[in-house]
Amino acid sequence: MTLSLPTSTPTSSEVQTPVVSAADLRDRQDLGFMQAALEQAAHARALGEVPVGAVVVRDGEIIASGFNQPIGRHDPSAHAEIMALRAAAEKLGNYRLPGCELYVTLEPCVMCSGAMMHARLARVVFGATDPKTGACGSVLNLFAQEQLNHHTQVQGGVLAQECGDLLKAFFAERREQLRLKRLQAAAASAEQNPIDD
Ligand SMILES: [Zn+2]
Repeated sequence: MTLSLPTSTPTSSEVQTPVVSAADLRDRQDLGFMQAALEQAAHARALGEVPVGAVVVRDGEIIASGFNQPIGRHDPSAHAEIMALRAAAEKLGNYRLPGCELYVTLEPCVMCSGAMMHARLARVVFGATDPKTGACGSVLNLFAQEQLNHHTQVQGGVLAQECGDLLKAFFAERREQLRLKRLQAAAASAEQNPIDD
């Protein structure tokens, strides 16, 4: 009896595996987490607050989230990032959040950027830029101050269009509501004080 050995074995090139580079994977994860931050922003909008949302991520998982709510909370510090940082710190039982990433739909302000540096976040990813109060490059760049920032990387522009459109729609709606209110007030005043001629 003779044993016949296989004449050929499948080579690794015949096995089809999708090739995803580390950079591609990071980009995909960034999109997914920014989408989650957008869902948080929708909560703010539903309450009549400027729609900004944030999530904190550790080891590829969302551990905390927050949305902008300074009006409802009577709290000037209740920005989305601060709400998310507080929830994350509470969850981890640590005032520092090393190894964590924060995703926020709008470029952080000075206050939030400062809080992120105190938390020693590994990375901040934001969506739309904020030419009025942005502290990651628009008005100034706090993170570029090497005396202040030793821990946090910053990246902007992830789903920037979607994040910006949400804000634009909110402000357009608010302007329209104000316009209607003024028209109603003018009509009511004309009714009370008819001009007799
Ligand atoms: Zn802020």
